[in-house]
Amino acid sequence: MARYRGPVCKLCRREGEKLFLKGERCFSAKCSFERRSYPPGQHGQSSAYRGRRRYSDFNRQLRAKQKARRLYGVLERQFRRYYQTALQRHGLTGENLLQILESRLDNVVYRLGFAASRAEARQLVTHGHFNVNRRRTDVPSMLLSPGDQIEVREGSRKRKYFKELPDLAEARSAPPAWLSRDVKALAGTVMRVPERTEIDGNLNEQLIVEYYSR
Ligand code: SF4
Repeated sequence: MARYRGPVCKLCRREGEKLFLKGERCFSAKCSFERRSYPPGQHGQSSAYRGRRRYSDFNRQLRAKQKARRLYGVLERQFRRYYQTALQRHGLTGENLLQILESRLDNVVYRLGFAASRAEARQLVTHGHFNVNRRRTDVPSMLLSPGDQIEVREGSRKRKYFKELPDLAEARSAPPAWLSRDVKALAGTVMRVPERTEIDGNLNEQLIVEYYSR
């Protein structure tokens, strides 16, 4: 399945904030954004990017959409498909879109603390280390529903990474209230659909809806 393969830290620098795409490195002094917090490219440091630039409505909508896409590691075509699905659901389109993104299997693995980043979660899933409802799955874009259970597969538990995972997961932040986690069993359950307040507050779903409604 297609994924972005370019330089990752440039994405944070383009969006003007840390998106925490690389796990532990994002919290260290090696973080590129800490050292170069200006946009990438030849003119990144020029005065145009240093507070004097005026942003159009389109620019703000585009940046909001790109930020969400990059945060969840979704390419444009799939993101647009998620938007179409969100449009067809009852309720607020923007909120529906964020709920769809949150319910991706790779995001749930990350939120449960079983991976340091969504990219790492994606790799663990594609390598077939997880069962969903007792069936092996290797599709990171799989959308989970309330009641779905995920667990590390029996054969994978012997690996060094998964032997150390209970301690690692405990050290990471607790999962959000819409997920329940059993660290010892390396398992988790989707309890309900996440509420807006439980999703990244820095995302502006209204601007994303405006972008696609042009
Ligand atoms: Fe972004 Fe992490 Fe790279 Fe820092 S280290 S620029 S937070 S991806």
